[in-house]
Amino acid sequence: MPDRIMRLTKSGLPIAWLSRECAATLYAREQVLWSLGDTLIRMHGGTGRSGRQSFLDIAPIVACSGDHPADAAVPHLTNSVLFRRDHHMCLYCGTVHQPAMLTRDHVVPRVQGGRDHWTNVVTACRGCNQHKGGLTPEQAGMPLLAVPFKPNLFEFMYLANRHIRGDQMEYLRRRFSGRRDWAA
Ligand SMILES: [Zn+2]
Repeated sequence: MPDRIMRLTKSGLPIAWLSRECAATLYAREQVLWSLGDTLIRMHGGTGRSGRQSFLDIAPIVACSGDHPADAAVPHLTNSVLFRRDHHMCLYCGTVHQPAMLTRDHVVPRVQGGRDHWTNVVTACRGCNQHKGGLTPEQAGMPLLAVPFKPNLFEFMYLANRHIRGDQMEYLRRRFSGRRDWAA
């Protein structure tokens, strides 16, 4: 998987992982206000009158002006990000599995009015999910091993990309909440 470029708002909030093409477009529109990190990619363009080929150096972290999708900054609940939040561990029995063996469990089941929200969902193995059924952890006698939480934007960006560079990680880590051991 190629390296992605981390897009920030002009105030430094991370909002998206960009392909090199998307990043190049932002540079071409002169929307990149500031950047961090050493050149990630050098893209070559046409040859000018001087006979020299033009190029564009793209940084790994770019803060941009302009609009971004309104929902880009909302940590969307997806199974892959949820499983990463929970270290691919079933929060009932503590076993670690491949993603294909994991499920999204609603702590307060939907049949009892539980919402499909970060603070009401945990990673569960298939066995535990089936055993728990339509019950709450208390009703099923299955206490949770950790409290589910909503990742902040910085944590979400980390969880949404499995190939983060050191300088990007350094930027994100500064604003991690300390609610879990992110280094694990
Ligand atoms: Zn389990």
